[in-house]
Amino acid sequence: TVRVRIAPSPTGNLHIGTARTAVFNWLFARHHGGKFILRIEDTDLERSRPEYTENILEGLRWLGLNWDEGPFFQSQRLELYKQAVEKLLAQGLAYRCYTTSEELEALREAQKAKGEAPRYDNRHRNLTPEQEAAFKAEGRSFVIRFKIEDDREIVWDDLVRGKMSWRGSDLGGDMVIARASEDGVGQPLYNFVVVVDDIDMQITHVIRGEDHIANTAKQILLYEAMGAKIPQFAHSPLILNMEGRKLSKRDGVTSISDFKQLGFTSEGLVNYMTLLGWSAPDSTQEIFTLEAAAKEFSFERVNKAGAKFDWAKLDWLNSQYIHNMPVSQLTDLLIPYWEAAGFNFDGGRDRAWLEQLVALLGPSLTRLKDAVAQSQLFFTETVEFSEEASKQLQQEGSAAVLQGILAALETQELQEATAQEIIKQVVKAQNVKKGLVMRSLRAALTGDVHGPDLIQSWLLLHKIGLDRPRLSKAIA
Ligand code: GLU
Repeated sequence: TVRVRIAPSPTGNLHIGTARTAVFNWLFARHHGGKFILRIEDTDLERSRPEYTENILEGLRWLGLNWDEGPFFQSQRLELYKQAVEKLLAQGLAYRCYTTSEELEALREAQKAKGEAPRYDNRHRNLTPEQEAAFKAEGRSFVIRFKIEDDREIVWDDLVRGKMSWRGSDLGGDMVIARASEDGVGQPLYNFVVVVDDIDMQITHVIRGEDHIANTAKQILLYEAMGAKIPQFAHSPLILNMEGRKLSKRDGVTSISDFKQLGFTSEGLVNYMTLLGWSAPDSTQEIFTLEAAAKEFSFERVNKAGAKFDWAKLDWLNSQYIHNMPVSQLTDLLIPYWEAAGFNFDGGRDRAWLEQLVALLGPSLTRLKDAVAQSQLFFTETVEFSEEASKQLQQEGSAAVLQGILAALETQELQEATAQEIIKQVVKAQNVKKGLVMRSLRAALTGDVHGPDLIQSWLLLHKIGLDRPRLSKAIA
């Protein structure tokens, strides 16, 4: 069976690139009825933080990328890595290297002067026990290096990029798999632990970003050294900004929690991420749930070229989800944004009222957060009049019209049907155009000359007792 994994490092919040890789892994696993495994790569103790792990788990859950096994934490598996290092040392496939950083620096300088690419020259590959003892006596620390033969050819058939071919000499010399540590075995590093874990977790397909291609070449050599079956690899394209450069921190919003805060729905965002480098066999079909995408997913339809991050498209997709969502679900999603904006729900703003407000505003929202600005006038006592609204209220007949409406409200119960009735009465009694009544009413109630459906807005304001004070204020 297919077994895939997402292996985020908790050195930051869940990044959009990691999340998109998780989406591809999830889709591939579900398509094949396989397992999706979550592994937290927290071996970098200095940069890993528990709050980042929390953010990553929360983000994956929010996106609906449920995992079948894990989360596993590398920090709890150190014994396994140590044993693997010891085995490679015992087999003579790895060795202790005592080269100092000054020596490495000098080596790099010399290579640079000759116009050569920097690489370790494998100088400590065959130390005698006496030489080792002498270095130790000097108080030098060491790293563990894994032997890489220059003339080795490394080939694999990448599920996205096709035939890949590397030479051992491209890999910078014998690779460091563990840093110095007290116990003489070393603190194991990414390229090594990832292979130990992928073997232990019986990963069949390694799906990750194309920035890992050079690591894959090195890791294949480690699989061989450890006598394990080599999984299949799929390197997905990078996410690029609109200028065509790799999306980075400088582009501002890059973590899933940022996108959530901006008001994207999980469904809209995850749908957009499936399209970052993949398209359905019917490429006109762009709106689908994760489950629907999983049915169609294959690496044949994953692009090699980088995927441009297109905000307009994300906004469009997001608005589709908002507009098609049941009012009650949308209300649940909007309440936290209103709360975060400091709005409170007293004075008759009960659930039924909120749902009516959501029914009114929903169709004009692109991002959930838009509801804050658009509903401000329903949560504050008074409104500021825009310049146009002030002009409207100074128009001839405007004050009289509003007086008429106020008078009608004294004797008539305001409801959907009676609202239209009241407007008709005022038009007739004062012999004015309906447009004048509507525009004046809107200006008085909302402080603006455009906005959502006027009758519905009026009914909402009436329920919380704000229509009469605003009409009076507009006349004064
Ligand atoms: N911890 C690595 C990362 O965050 C995992 C890479 C991999 O999937 O092997 O990029």
